Amino acid sequence: MKVPLLDLKAQFNTIRDEVNKKINEVLESQHFILGKEVQELEKKIADYVGTKYAIGVSSGTDALLIALMAIDLKPGDEVILPSYSFFATAGVVARMNAIPVFADINPYTFNINPLDIEKRITKKTRAIIPVHLYGQSCEMNEIINIAQKYKLKIIEDAAQAIGTQYKNGKKVGSIGDIGCFSFFPSKNLGCFGDGGIVTTNDNELGEKLRILRVHGSKPKYYHKIIGGNFRLDEIQAAVLNVKFPYLDKWSAKRRENADFYTNLFIQAGLSENAGRLVYDEKNLVLLPKPIYKGYKDSDDKEIINYHIYNQFVIRIQNRDALKKYLTDNGIGTEIYYPVPFHRQECFKYLNCDMNSFPISDDAALCSLALPIYPELSKEQMEYVVQKISDFYSVK
Ligand SMILES: *Cc1c(COP(=O)(O)O)cnc(C)c1O
Repeated sequence: MKVPLLDLKAQFNTIRDEVNKKINEVLESQHFILGKEVQELEKKIADYVGTKYAIGVSSGTDALLIALMAIDLKPGDEVILPSYSFFATAGVVARMNAIPVFADINPYTFNINPLDIEKRITKKTRAIIPVHLYGQSCEMNEIINIAQKYKLKIIEDAAQAIGTQYKNGKKVGSIGDIGCFSFFPSKNLGCFGDGGIVTTNDNELGEKLRILRVHGSKPKYYHKIIGGNFRLDEIQAAVLNVKFPYLDKWSAKRRENADFYTNLFIQAGLSENAGRLVYDEKNLVLLPKPIYKGYKDSDDKEIINYHIYNQFVIRIQNRDALKKYLTDNGIGTEIYYPVPFHRQECFKYLNCDMNSFPISDDAALCSLALPIYPELSKEQMEYVVQKISDFYSVK
């Protein structure tokens, strides 16, 4: 049996006609840049995330970059972010000639540990970038308290977390000063190329982000500030407008799959329950546990999108051997991420203390993302768990 890590074709098969029709409309209009599709998408995302503004941009990376430009980050300013994330989170800070300062993560969630943030604050700290990794919210109340205490901006990296709710029911991207999302094809809401969006409730930042997107010009050809070309194009927005109504259904399916996997692992005797941190003979696989499941919002309604499972990441010993075994058996997996920031060659100049990120180091060594996409069948998931079980009994 073949189980790819992600099967975009399976999703496309369900929306082909709608997408083709919509793309064709854009082609017929020959209006490709910042037209009605982008406007429609911005309105939908602002409503969905719960912010006053949403501004479509060229990628998730550019969403982060433009956010840092909007808060007027200066060379030499320090920005605290997790040592364990996709490269863009750290790369954008360095590209602004600012200093990325890494904090270790929480072993249960893989998200930045607020206690470690506070330890790393200096007089130069300007902002925090919490990353809602794999689709689960960071501990935002704790992060907001720190930001208020030290007057820091919060730029949420919600690239993997569109729709994710924090324990109070608020959606990520509406909690900090600016939210940054990616529409890279492998995200829960993906376009047919690169795309992203930034969200904010702040009038001034909303206006500034919109101007920065078009080289800082307003009116056209008059530049008070320097921006760039950070535009989202109409074809990408059209695809996203077609996909958007399905997003919550797709994320719900990912959650179902996560529950199904969890039960299978427990039934197979590979794990006693989710959220364990220590291996033993009854817990060869450490399963992820959604920490805000069962929480209620301010209207006493149970929050649904407590985790959107952009990735379902288990931890195992002998990770690389298991990965190879699964590849040999037709199962796609991925390591997010094999090298934490403090160990990246490009960040050697920061002289990080290599001993102060033990949880990130462990995650880099043990984590493995399994296929979790919505169209996955029960038989495919059973096969994945069977093969993992076989690997451990073979040894
Ligand atoms: C995907 C991703 C990004 C970058 O998004 P792109 O659209 O690929 O530029 C940034 N941060 C995180 C955590 C991501 O997963």
